[in-house]
Amino acid sequence: MIDFHTHSAASDGALTPRDLVDRAAREGVRRMAITDHDTIAGYLSIRQSVPSALELISGVELSCQWGRVGIHVVGLGFDPSAPVLVQHLEELDQARRDRAAKIAHKLDRNGMPDALEGAMAVAAGAQIGRPHFAQWMVLAGHVDSEEMAFKRFLGRGKPGDISLLWPSLDDTVAAITTAGGVAVLAHPLEYKMTATRLRALTDAFRDAGGQALEVINGRPRPGDTDTLWRLVRDRGLQVSVGSDFHRDSPYGAGLGVDVSAIPEGTGVWEQL
Ligand code: AMP
Ligand code: MN
Ligand code: MN
Ligand code: MN
Repeated sequence: MIDFHTHSAASDGALTPRDLVDRAAREGVRRMAITDHDTIAGYLSIRQSVPSALELISGVELSCQWGRVGIHVVGLGFDPSAPVLVQHLEELDQARRDRAAKIAHKLDRNGMPDALEGAMAVAAGAQIGRPHFAQWMVLAGHVDSEEMAFKRFLGRGKPGDISLLWPSLDDTVAAITTAGGVAVLAHPLEYKMTATRLRALTDAFRDAGGQALEVINGRPRPGDTDTLWRLVRDRGLQVSVGSDFHRDSPYGAGLGVDVSAIPEGTGVWEQL
């Protein structure tokens, strides 16, 4: 069992890095990465004290954009002290702070004052993101559920969906590969693209130095994995897999992906 896509409380996950790796080890995961959104603080905090049954590699899920589309790129097995990566993460910290202020402004105009203070209190030092705003909106009684917060205010095309602020896809892949890591296009079907557009994204990603597609993310819908495998073969890429675990949920996947059925020579784990 491998898991190369997980979140800790250093971004929008519920478990501390300690609890996350302990649980993964208990549940039979042999190799994993903590891939928090735009931060490696969780990984750095735990890397020296991982259960011996588990190998933890460096990881991150970087926000970027390709044209006007927001894309997530998972970085694996990089040198966490590489200057290009450290600087890239500093830029993302700033981008997330700027975006949080803009989200709060939009929420204020929709009758929800003091959202920045509220979301920052929820985040409690974590890399701030929309889920912290969603949690605050529930706590403050503005919506009944986080799902509703996304549906009405934070999701795609809604007031709190601030566009055009992330680094480019090219710079993002370069930050990972220059730091000696492998870049993985996260959950390629989440971007809701046509097949033609997704092929164009895949080509742009590969041309930038990206190596793999995430063929299993969480609980794939029927057919999704086949679609992605076709793209992988067609474009000569490798594969990665992950639960995208954030917390226990009836909809999400548990930790760990069984990779025994994945053909030899295709998994990124073989070179990490
Ligand atoms: P951000 O990285 O700040 O843009 O927030 C994106 C994160 O919000 C994703 O990684 C998910 O964890 C979460 N998310 C996205 N859409 C939804 C949704 N509809 N309901 C609940 N959480 C969501
Ligand atoms: Mn998330
Ligand atoms: Mn993602
Ligand atoms: Mn994720």
